[in-house]
Amino acid sequence: MERTKQRPHVIVLTYPAQGHINPLLQFAKRLASKGLKATLATTHYTVPSIHTKTISIEPISDGYDQSGYNQAPNLPTYLDSFKTVGSKTLSDLIFKYKDSDSPVTCLVYDSLLPWGLEVAKKHGIYGAAFLTNSASVCSMYWQIEKGVLSLPVGDGMVPLVLPGLIPLGFCDMPSFLAQPVGIHSPYLEAILDKFSCLELNDWVFVNSFEELESELANALLGHWPVEMVGPMVPSMFLDQQIEEDTNYGASLWNPIGDQCLAWLDTKPPKSVVYVSFGSMAQISAEQVEEIAWALKGVNKPFLWVLKEPEHEKLPTEFSNSTDQMGLVITWSNQLDVLAHRAVGCFVTHCGWNSTLEGLSLGVPMVAVPQWSDQPMNAKYVEEVWKVAVRARKDGGVVRREELEVCIREVMVGERSDEIRRNVSMWRELAKRAVSRGGSSDQNVNKFVQVLLTGEK
Ligand code: UDP
Repeated sequence: MERTKQRPHVIVLTYPAQGHINPLLQFAKRLASKGLKATLATTHYTVPSIHTKTISIEPISDGYDQSGYNQAPNLPTYLDSFKTVGSKTLSDLIFKYKDSDSPVTCLVYDSLLPWGLEVAKKHGIYGAAFLTNSASVCSMYWQIEKGVLSLPVGDGMVPLVLPGLIPLGFCDMPSFLAQPVGIHSPYLEAILDKFSCLELNDWVFVNSFEELESELANALLGHWPVEMVGPMVPSMFLDQQIEEDTNYGASLWNPIGDQCLAWLDTKPPKSVVYVSFGSMAQISAEQVEEIAWALKGVNKPFLWVLKEPEHEKLPTEFSNSTDQMGLVITWSNQLDVLAHRAVGCFVTHCGWNSTLEGLSLGVPMVAVPQWSDQPMNAKYVEEVWKVAVRARKDGGVVRREELEVCIREVMVGERSDEIRRNVSMWRELAKRAVSRGGSSDQNVNKFVQVLLTGEK
């Protein structure tokens, strides 16, 4: 009997946080849609949160199989454990497929887990890093790692002018750099670690698209085997009828889904303010209070995602007020919300996924960055892509008056028409990039072709 032809098999390894699972899962689905066999490898406790019919999901261990990072005393200990136990269980997984009819040909690993490359080399398969930040942010970190920019960034060095980037002030830099060095050093170390050997990969994928960061795409090309493959936003692929639905298919928290959409259905087009600060940010009680009164002051319907522990920070008078125009929920299906015609403004922390989602679904934004790469994303959405207004902090907090002004500016103010025009343009460019023949689509095809033909 003739044996069916083997499909090349790619394992995609993700860090177990929402902002990492989403783009990597989407990338795995994308590869499956182009004829490869794709398997997502993730920790035991995140497997039940992922629902997809198009790819396989396989558990590996980070050494904390019950609830992961929360069990670990600190980030370095967690990452060390993940490296030791993860390398072994990932290796076992690759080995498991060795004599099957789908041996693993390539490992695409989340760049926060740089040991993935060693595992790939050990098995003699292709190794590719996937970067979940913008190319601009990656370029900045990379320049630090390579010593082009030395830390700490002192007063005399700002505005900071680096190749391929716009001039950056202190408040525009990733928070780990703007703080006195040392405060967040475990994070900075973990991040810089991922840039130490990118050039040794067969490919380096970035969740961005050439049109969005064109200068960077060219500048980085000389240093890494880089391919821009984003945006990894499921709704963008709908016209190709290859995706299962409009969502990623992974949720570490339970979304308040139908109730939320039914409520949005009752609101006029572009009237609702959607507020979400993603999965990681911890919002101070003072900031929660300022947002609450700003939303009240704006006097428009609002949908506010406030994670469970933060609910307690809502001012009692706000929670009790009977004339509330909004819903405060613990988790949403963000893509469904952003795609809804009633949503007219996205107040966002500028996590990279949220930024790409707002841009790809054409929603004007108010940027309220919290930490990590978010200040730099905020700088770009406001000044480079011109799809947002950034709310400025005063004493470490965005005050209610400032937030009110920014929301009004984006929805009805002088700049609102221009912002809407720009964000519509970016939506079209994002869609074009991932559509058949678009820049990101071609970059994915080149990779798939190598795996299908075995010729690099
Ligand atoms: N998200 C969601 N529901 C929410 C809030 C966020 O589905 O209520 C998703 C959002 O669509 C995005 C991810 O969680 O894909 C958050 O990633 P991002 O990079 O924006 O921020 P992080 O959580 O990493 O700070």
